[in-house]
Amino acid sequence: MTLTTPGTGTFTEPAPSALLLLGRGADLASERGVECAGALPDPSDPALVERARAARAALGDRAFVLGHHYQRDEVIAFADVTGDSFKLAREAAARPDAEFVVFCGVHFMAESADILTTDAQQVVLPDLAAGCSMADMAAIDQVEDAWDVLVDAGVADETVPVTYMNSTAAIKAFTGRHGGTVCTSSNAQVALRWAFDRAGGVAGRGKVLFMPDQHLGRNTAVLQLGLSLADCVVYDPRKPGGGVTTQQLRDARMILWRGHCSVHGRFSARNVADVRAAVPGVTVLVHPECTHEVVTAADMVGSTEYIIKALDAAEPGSSWAIGTELNLVRRLARAHPELTVHYLDSTVCFCSTMNRIDLPHLVWALEELVAGRVPNRIVVDADDAHWARVALDQMLALPGH
Ligand code: SF4
Repeated sequence: MTLTTPGTGTFTEPAPSALLLLGRGADLASERGVECAGALPDPSDPALVERARAARAALGDRAFVLGHHYQRDEVIAFADVTGDSFKLAREAAARPDAEFVVFCGVHFMAESADILTTDAQQVVLPDLAAGCSMADMAAIDQVEDAWDVLVDAGVADETVPVTYMNSTAAIKAFTGRHGGTVCTSSNAQVALRWAFDRAGGVAGRGKVLFMPDQHLGRNTAVLQLGLSLADCVVYDPRKPGGGVTTQQLRDARMILWRGHCSVHGRFSARNVADVRAAVPGVTVLVHPECTHEVVTAADMVGSTEYIIKALDAAEPGSSWAIGTELNLVRRLARAHPELTVHYLDSTVCFCSTMNRIDLPHLVWALEELVAGRVPNRIVVDADDAHWARVALDQMLALPGH
């Protein structure tokens, strides 16, 4: 894979294209631009690391830098704390004295940090183009339309919405308004059980509308709650009525939003078979955002935090094949020279949107803060923030938190 970044000596001006080039120009019709106000440092500047150090030191305790597990090494080097999206939002909330929270992750994570931090704190996303393809698969108007479909089918009253942390603040707010909860990949089982209890029990007739990751919803419902694949129906927001009949909605227990992670969705059962053939005795450990066939073919399944802990506790000399984002797996392999760590599929790459946050963008954001300007501030409107907070608080009230 070759990455070409604007500003390097190898970048050449392309022919005019209908598509935006990353880092150049802005799509005024879209939610997020891809342009930095002011000068973005040249990626080939040999002083970048020193500039980042100097800006970080100048900000001191006024800034708190968060680094998601899937982030690049060059950015993680400047993170005050690393973690998954929810851990990072909580870490930000636990530091009310930090004036600026610099979130090296993606847009929905920065929104959650803004919701959970005080009004005096300002959350900064170094590149506004760092979105999440999964979160973008559920737009609020589509979800409102879907709820209308459930109302028309006569099942809305017996349906509790559950949204994955990887969703926009607007979807979390929708969930809060409709009496549901947020979940993470660590607590999805507990959250779903709570939602079914609220809808009349797992053994009853109630339903859960699960957004936006169909795979996490299906894997949790079938493998951890004992529902069947036939209990699940996929609602496709791009089709009239979601592409399902009224009877299918009435019969379903899990109404799964048609969304997925573009990284985890690429692993296949063939990858699992291939690594087993190539590495006798290998333990295959995958993230629950992988498809149901991959998860059922694997030996273990769990969140990024679970994967990290599993390798920390692994028997020295053992072999592992890991199905999650590549930056994390490479760091885990380096951190565990006593293990043999394989990447489940060499053709699956980094999370491209997460990788939008690179050292030039981090340096730019930090230097802007030092200069007294707040770049790329993420602010969730007050009403959405209130209802999203209701759904997040409901999650925090689940057993185990
Ligand atoms: S890894 Fe997948 S779910 Fe996570 S930020 Fe990237 S696209 Fe979104």
